[in-house]
Amino acid sequence: MSYYETLGVSQDASQEEIKKAYRKLAVRFHPDKNPGNNAAEEKFKEISVAYEVIGDENKRREYDNGSMNSNVNPFQFFNMFNQGMSHQNTSLTTISYSIKVTLEQICRKKKLAITYQRRECCDKCLGSGSKTSVVMCRTCSGNGYVTRSVNVMGIMRVNQPVTCGVCAGRGKKIPFGQACTACNSKGEVPRSNTINVSTNECLVKNRLVYRGQGHYDARIKTHGDLHVMLSIQVHPLFRNIGLDLHTDIHVSSKEATFGFDRSITHPSGREISFKPVMQRTFAHDHVFTIPDEGLDSGTNKGNLRLRLKITKREEAPSNKK
Ligand SMILES: [Zn+2]
Ligand SMILES: [Zn+2]
Repeated sequence: MSYYETLGVSQDASQEEIKKAYRKLAVRFHPDKNPGNNAAEEKFKEISVAYEVIGDENKRREYDNGSMNSNVNPFQFFNMFNQGMSHQNTSLTTISYSIKVTLEQICRKKKLAITYQRRECCDKCLGSGSKTSVVMCRTCSGNGYVTRSVNVMGIMRVNQPVTCGVCAGRGKKIPFGQACTACNSKGEVPRSNTINVSTNECLVKNRLVYRGQGHYDARIKTHGDLHVMLSIQVHPLFRNIGLDLHTDIHVSSKEATFGFDRSITHPSGREISFKPVMQRTFAHDHVFTIPDEGLDSGTNKGNLRLRLKITKREEAPSNKK
């Protein structure tokens, strides 16, 4: 029987469908709901193993490719109702920051200094949380977590790893009276940190990742990452589509026929003079292209596109046709 058959789902079932099917079966066959029923217990183990594999995108791919050998504890992962163990969760050390940048800042390749709060390693105790030394936590044997029987949704009890309450997941204990006072024995202190963000990088990617600029985690002695999301603020005159910059130029109908020249203030601050060659009357909404005067990503340059807007008030209705 394949893992798909065990869970009663098709081979192209979505992760959501697999999760749903598993949850339904797990509740039905859990040993606590079927005391003394060996068949139910066997069934519970089977569905647990199946879910452990196909409920995980990577393992599922391996399984589908026939390269999976499973060796799992059916209770070990039964924590989908729970957050799981925090020290494996890198999102706790990741800091996300969103900023809006202007076209002027981008075109002038401005660097923005971002100052933000993060947890850093305490320099008094070097992250140990202790003035002197630390000893291994005997409650969790230094693992940082203990296995507990917990009540899930009020219907069953399962064994699940939970953060050790004695050492708060550090696996180490601070001898009595030796707690570092600078960090309250946490090993981490809040500090402000500043980094410089190159605004024009948003032309290449939406998210910039700064390794090691996130929070410090004293348990794993490392800093997480800082993610900076850049988006471009709406500009009153220009809009960008990719690297192209679009704007309108307003002329009278006389100018549209006999010619005009305009000076356009580019977001970079440069004045660009524009004078079209008049071979004909230009129509309303005609688009002129000035090559390479759009946004500059460093490797590519966009164009500047000028859309002609003919001012109506100078147009006498009788002059039409
Ligand atoms: Zn400290
Ligand atoms: Zn412990």
